[in-house]
Amino acid sequence: MAEKLTLEVVSPYGLVLKEEVDEVVATGSEGEFGVLPGHVPLVTTLKIGMLVCKKGGTVSYVFVNSGYAEVNEDRVLILADSAERAEDIDVERAKNAMKRAEERLRKQEEIDFARAQAALDRAIIRVQLAEKKGHQKSL
Ligand code: ATP
Repeated sequence: MAEKLTLEVVSPYGLVLKEEVDEVVATGSEGEFGVLPGHVPLVTTLKIGMLVCKKGGTVSYVFVNSGYAEVNEDRVLILADSAERAEDIDVERAKNAMKRAEERLRKQEEIDFARAQAALDRAIIRVQLAEKKGHQKSL
């Protein structure tokens, strides 16, 4: 049985990360799910959320803006609309995006509600992850 997982996160903007990990927890459309080496093959959709990556007693986080996860015994491939490692998140940019989305939702005039809500959800999770400074936490 596989002992390690290769986690690969790809978006239309490029390769976000490729590394060996012990465990990944992802935000599936139907809820969080964890993957350990030897997992049964699986393809599922992801909602706006995060990946929690555990490796050798440390944990790190990756923002994922919707997409798909393909799990095989020794590999987790994430195809995301956009994604960043927590340490690469520009918190000011995310806070500005949050303000814009909140403003649009407050006005409620001729807005695409789902689009504004999704922008707000992305910004909220980016800010949360950016504030998990130290990103590499001991378990
Ligand atoms: P914004 O309104 O600030 O552009 P957005 O949620 O619309 O935010 P996306 O469409 O998800 O942005 O992403 C576009 C590109 O910008 C992607 O490469 C994404 O990784 C990057 N990106 C977006 N927001 C941030 C951020 N706060 N920090 C770092 N990279 C970001």
